[in-house]
Amino acid sequence: MTATSQSDPVCGMHVDPKTGVPVEHDGHLYYFCEAACADTFRDDPDRWIPRDLAGEA
Ligand SMILES: [Zn+2]
Repeated sequence: MTATSQSDPVCGMHVDPKTGVPVEHDGHLYYFCEAACADTFRDDPDRWIPRDLAGEA
C-alpha cells in the first residue's frame, strides 16, 4: 500500500507529496503545505510528530 497523500503535522492540512515541502526527520519523510510550516517543524520536530507514527512497532 502506498501513501498518496500526507497531513501537514504543523497545521493539519492535507498535503500532496508532489507539491508539498518534504522534510526528512529520524528516517521519516514529512510533507508540509509551505516552507513556513517546514521551518516550524525543523525548529522543534518532536513537538509536531504524531505519536502513533513515532511509536509504530
Ligand atoms: Zn502547513
